[in-house]
Amino acid sequence: MTEQLTPMMKQYMTIKEQVKDCILFFRLGDFYEMFFDDAIVASKVLELVLTKRQCGLSESAPMCGVPYHAALSYISKLVSNGYKVAICEQVEDPATAKGIVKREIVKIYTPGTIVEEQMLDQKSNNYIMCIYCFRGMYGISSADVSTGEMYCTTLSIGASINRLADEVARYSPKEVIINEAAKELDRIKKLITNLTGAYISTLPENEFDYDRGRILIDEYIKDQKISEYDLSVNSAGALYSYIMNTQKTNTLDHLLAINFYKIDEYMSIDASSRRNLEITETMRDKKKKGSLLWVLDKTITAMGGRELKKWLEKPLLDTAEINKRLDGVAELKELFMTRSEICEILNGVYDIERLTGKISLGNVNARDLISLKQSLGQLPYVKNAINACQSAIMREIYENLDCLEDIYELIDKAIVEEPPISVTEGGLIKDGYNNQVDLYRVAARDGKKWLADYESEQKEKTGIKNLKIGYNRVFGYYLEVTKANYDLVPEHYIRKQTLANSERYTTEELAKIEEAILEADEKLTELEYKLFVEIRQSVAGNVKRLMHTGQLVAILDVLACFAEVADRENYVKPEMTEEPVIDIIQGRHPVVEKMLSDGEFVPNDAYVAPEDDTLLVITGPNMAGKSTYMRQVALIVLMAQAGCFVPAESAVIGIVDKLFTRVGASDDLASGQSTFMVEMSEVANILSNSTERSLLILDEIGRGTSTFDGLSIAWAVLEYILENIKSRTLFATHYHEITELEGKIQGVKNYCVDVLKKGDDIVFLRKLKRGGADGSYGIEVAQLAGIPQAVTIRAKELLSILEEQDISRKEIRRLKRRNKDGEGQVDLFTYAANTVMRDEIVEELKNLDVQTITPIEALNVLFNLHQKAMKRK
Ligand code: ATP
Repeated sequence: MTEQLTPMMKQYMTIKEQVKDCILFFRLGDFYEMFFDDAIVASKVLELVLTKRQCGLSESAPMCGVPYHAALSYISKLVSNGYKVAICEQVEDPATAKGIVKREIVKIYTPGTIVEEQMLDQKSNNYIMCIYCFRGMYGISSADVSTGEMYCTTLSIGASINRLADEVARYSPKEVIINEAAKELDRIKKLITNLTGAYISTLPENEFDYDRGRILIDEYIKDQKISEYDLSVNSAGALYSYIMNTQKTNTLDHLLAINFYKIDEYMSIDASSRRNLEITETMRDKKKKGSLLWVLDKTITAMGGRELKKWLEKPLLDTAEINKRLDGVAELKELFMTRSEICEILNGVYDIERLTGKISLGNVNARDLISLKQSLGQLPYVKNAINACQSAIMREIYENLDCLEDIYELIDKAIVEEPPISVTEGGLIKDGYNNQVDLYRVAARDGKKWLADYESEQKEKTGIKNLKIGYNRVFGYYLEVTKANYDLVPEHYIRKQTLANSERYTTEELAKIEEAILEADEKLTELEYKLFVEIRQSVAGNVKRLMHTGQLVAILDVLACFAEVADRENYVKPEMTEEPVIDIIQGRHPVVEKMLSDGEFVPNDAYVAPEDDTLLVITGPNMAGKSTYMRQVALIVLMAQAGCFVPAESAVIGIVDKLFTRVGASDDLASGQSTFMVEMSEVANILSNSTERSLLILDEIGRGTSTFDGLSIAWAVLEYILENIKSRTLFATHYHEITELEGKIQGVKNYCVDVLKKGDDIVFLRKLKRGGADGSYGIEVAQLAGIPQAVTIRAKELLSILEEQDISRKEIRRLKRRNKDGEGQVDLFTYAANTVMRDEIVEELKNLDVQTITPIEALNVLFNLHQKAMKRK
């Protein structure tokens, strides 16, 4: 069939074969055209008209197209809708080409490798992740091509798929690559889709070859020790070549900053906790507003914004490192003037990291270089502003901050202050930078002056007052004469073009000077482009220095931001310790506090410590503030370990290695799990992965099933934590029975969130106090929520009936407890049977006439009663 295709369509088919998973933008003149299925998909997504083109086959090919100069916005739309786009350009001049113009793929846009700022969120990294699964281990590499960062780690044998999920959630990649032969590939894909919705593709095993990865990596990091079995090498290698293939480059100089880390270098926060705690986005609508990041983000630069996000996504475990950050924040909090100065200076700093990424990929224009220059120009002021700072981290920034004066000077000398967007049309290079440029400019400028003189001279000579010299691309320079003056046109004028109301002429002299001007212009444009590329390359030779400077500016920005927030919001420096305690005085929830008006938030203490205070059972009515309180403790710990001051009067925080939260649950229909199943899998994950140094936030475990099952599960989970794991735990529950455990199991302490009951109404005091709550007040809360009175009245009636029955349930519990002490099994049925029998015995005794009964009859009755009693269990 392909034989019948037109030559151009044959070329299209051959190229499309290389990028089957992409939408192919095929350059035809001033358009990018799409054909066949690509055209059908793109016409829908981009709302383009679908047309047809003869392709040699009996049926025409579906086709749609976009103008090349506006392609980026269309590509952006396709990529954000989860498609990959391959760009195929004409790579030879159609004028000189023999036969069909040669075409090649010059770039592939994919969701995880884009570097165009129009397509990126300034304050978020855009990660692509590559996972290599091998014999139950995972090599994971995550890169942001736009900033040049790359992070690699390995999950060794025994790591569950949940740990993989945690890493996926940490980076929230836009695109993921997995090796084809990965075990449980479908499960991994499903998990990634649920967590991030990332674009997933698989690559063949040979792409993940260790030696290949090693060669690529060794080129960049010479002295890092990498073990032979480090699977992250396999994944990093595959990722490198994937990125090179999409960018169509042979080198990725800016992906120098490969960072190999161990999974336990940072606080582990499992995927559902990240969601529950709303660290960087809200759970419901995935917006930044309403998240912790929203409260804390006072960063000035895009680099600072991304760094802040990273700090919150990767809280530290090393006390010294945390204190280093905290000391820096403390210093800047005190030095108000220095802080304001830093903020003001950083306002003039553009995204050095992303500009550097673009420079190294050869994507910058002269305007970008000017932005870079302006940013670099601020660095000496930054240095000056922090000169007097004493904290270790601030000294480090001061001493290591390379102001890159040489690069500043190069750009300053070479590039004009307001260059055009295009780099191929001249107007880029400053006068005085290059002799030849200056000479061409003189020629062009002199030529133009000559034109002006020639115009006045000709006006005078011919007497044509409105004679003027003009220029267009097709006809070049001309003398224009209007109709009324045709009879004044001298003989030696040569007609070039006739318009409705005028004629255009040239002369020998004009033609000569035209040639000189055009030649100078053309040569000038060529030379300017050549010089620009040289300048870009010499800046690109300094990628490492630029990246390092960008990184230090980002850190400074975050420290200043933490100081600013601490000052504005009245946060304090937490005291970090290795002891497994949490002692917060008058803590507040950073986000809920911001949502309420001043002074409305009620602060609460939290004391969790080994031995007697390991597990706090928190009860209280609905809406009392239990969840808020528990999240507040988790967020304060997380903030402290990220190096941020915390919303409290004081806080002592013992390092938490893993943070788990089980708060609410939703159906996970995509993975085919019910609410209760999701809840139980999360609990299972927590119980098998938490340690003595972890912090567990467990909110209403077991509520997704029947009361007895739920209560039993909650109870058993609590016992298991205290007996086997000893993690610091906050345990909120509506099962008041759980409060009976204080005093019986060491480590349990009861707290409740206080309310005041006024008749039928309740007032929420939001204050935590010792002891268990005296009721759930569910109906009162339902009333507050606007449930019709008829319903709440009926609910109250039902409640009192159920409470009466509950008295007999208490009896069951009493029996159960007796049973626990070794008196055999008692279940509901036995209890019921026993009750019936007891009633029968009582009845028989009542009916007995003791006055008339004979001794032998009495003995028989006694024998029967005894038999019955013996049957009772
Ligand atoms: P439920 O058992 O129904 O889940 P809850 O006890 O967990 O309820 P929260 O969701 O924590 O209650 O809190 C309910 C609301 O109370 C919050 O949205 C918040 O507006 C307010 N609130 C909670 N804690 C405080 C506080 N300390 N100070 C002021 N308002 C608070």
